[in-house]
Amino acid sequence: MKFVDEYRDADRVHQVANAIAAITTRPWTIMEICGGQTHSIVKFGLDTLLPEGITLIHGPGCPVCVTPAEIIDTAIALAALPGVIFCSFGDMLRVPGSVNIALPDLLSVKAAGGDVRIVYSPLDALKIAHYHPDKQVVFFAVGFETTAPATAMAVFQAHQQGLQNFSLLVSHVLVPPAMEAILSSPNCRVQGFLAAGHVCTVMGYHEYVAIAPKYHVPIVVTGFEPLDVLQGIYLCVQQLESGRAEVENQYVRSVRKQGNETAQHLIQTVFEVVPQQWRGIGNIAQSGLGLRQPYRHFDASQRFASHLAPAPASPPSDCISGLILQGIHKPHDCPAFGTRCTPEHPLGAPMVSSEGACAAYYRYRQPTVTASIT
Ligand code: SF4
Repeated sequence: MKFVDEYRDADRVHQVANAIAAITTRPWTIMEICGGQTHSIVKFGLDTLLPEGITLIHGPGCPVCVTPAEIIDTAIALAALPGVIFCSFGDMLRVPGSVNIALPDLLSVKAAGGDVRIVYSPLDALKIAHYHPDKQVVFFAVGFETTAPATAMAVFQAHQQGLQNFSLLVSHVLVPPAMEAILSSPNCRVQGFLAAGHVCTVMGYHEYVAIAPKYHVPIVVTGFEPLDVLQGIYLCVQQLESGRAEVENQYVRSVRKQGNETAQHLIQTVFEVVPQQWRGIGNIAQSGLGLRQPYRHFDASQRFASHLAPAPASPPSDCISGLILQGIHKPHDCPAFGTRCTPEHPLGAPMVSSEGACAAYYRYRQPTVTASIT
């Protein structure tokens, strides 16, 4: 196959769905841990093509959704400081924080006159720092292992150039520790995983080799298009039915076992592995990235520490995104879904992000919306 359209071919999609039905003898629960896969499943109705016993649940695969509210609060506080240009991916601008009623999100800071800019890469923020030597430029570094290499490159270049007016608010997260946290939970329903193809393109899949036998769970590295997702499910069910728990790679056109070693080296040069807070899940050991000592002066939370109030405890919220991110509930189970929480007035990050499960259900699972693969 050469083109994306071929991975959306309805006949082939139905063939693979039929093949899954043919090998399924009992119920299985499979979690995808990638917002791109979640949107593909919901948008194309892939779950509706599966035999009744196969349940798909959506894990913490949306980087915007897992960014903790306290970090959003810090981002809002930094963006509101005079003399700061705050640079962020667009998805983060409407994610609600937890404490500032007057300025609930970064978009409201911008509306109130703050210099908040949408960028597509941390290197764009670096350029802005060069153009504005009289300002402090802060980049909001969020995302999985996929976006971490570009962040690391920006810090590396800023270090080489001796840039004094560039810093980062870092909230990068790592997928394998989150998978282990889910598998260790007493509430865990996951029997098989679809691992995120884009994360594995960078990191490879050698880290999963120990996880699969430890928890006796098949892990299939899977792409995002409908045919990718169904092939990943097929491989996962095949393992489950035969009692195997191994790592397999469906996404061979992009992923090698060792991944992109140049990108990994860059990440390891600039970052060290640290504990990380995940929104709705809590603290997960060894699941985040923090700046290493030679680069720590680029840490915005340290540089501006005297301007930042200690984070107060978050008030209770109606949002059940933590349960959704752990696969315990689906968006329709949330009492606020589609009523008090909509993309225009989100209560939680999964309704804001283009990769969020709530946004996917809102967009594609309203009664008038039908699946695109027929
Ligand atoms: S529908 Fe809204 S309030 Fe409910 S879990 Fe999703 S984001 Fe949170």
